[in-house]
Amino acid sequence: MALLEISGLTRNFGGLRAVSNLSFTVAAGEILGLIGPNGSGKTTIFNLITGFLSPTMGDIRLDNENIVGLKPYAVTRRGIARTFQIVKPFPHLTVRENAALAALVRLGDRAQADAEAVRALKQVGLADKLDIPASDLTLSDQKRMEIARALATGPKLLLLDEPLGGLNPREMEDACGLIEHIHATGITVILVEHVMKAIMRISHRVVVIRQGEKIAEGPPAQVVSDPAVISAYFGKRVA
Ligand code: ADP
Ligand code: MG
Repeated sequence: MALLEISGLTRNFGGLRAVSNLSFTVAAGEILGLIGPNGSGKTTIFNLITGFLSPTMGDIRLDNENIVGLKPYAVTRRGIARTFQIVKPFPHLTVRENAALAALVRLGDRAQADAEAVRALKQVGLADKLDIPASDLTLSDQKRMEIARALATGPKLLLLDEPLGGLNPREMEDACGLIEHIHATGITVILVEHVMKAIMRISHRVVVIRQGEKIAEGPPAQVVSDPAVISAYFGKRVA
């Protein structure tokens, strides 16, 4: 049975169909790459899965239970966490407080939430920056803190929205290692990313969307040589 099953998912914004009759599944233990040109609907899909937006049509099932209509905090409690394409920390709070707030969604107890926060921050390599203001972190560390905030909620499924955006090659390398490490702890991952090298290295399987529709699905090497995918990225003439 799939951990996550999306079927017939559609979301309109006025006259624009941002996600169109989309179906795919994610198996427990998988790293699924979700790719597509800018504006193809990737972030909208994450917003739909996490309850930030409601679908116009379609089903989203986690462990075979429909989660459509649940509020974001309820989706978090079911075990889905996400990071944002644009990091949104509370800049005046410390790194530790930022992560603890996320943990409080699941744990009512402040001491427990703090312990969870520290555990998650150690996992992402921020153990020595616990008590500095989030605003003092480099972009790379802010992205790590975003991931720690997601991990502090105890997810079984982690949605990463362009976690490598703005990083230099060395930081990208480290971030890829971190994603693989998180996966090795038993967390299933959906990775939205433009950096193809990272998608090729990390993903077990890739779903490609264009204008909200799935145009290809399969192992990374197969998908990147698919004429429909090449055409979606580079225009029809190349294909
Ligand atoms: P991606 O993450 O793949 O770049 P998005 O999901 O952000 O794409 O956007 C898909 C399309 O939906 C774009 O045309 C975008 O302008 C539109 N869109 C996204 N969110 C909204 C919104 N809240 N209201 C109106 N249009 C939106
Ligand atoms: Mg996006």
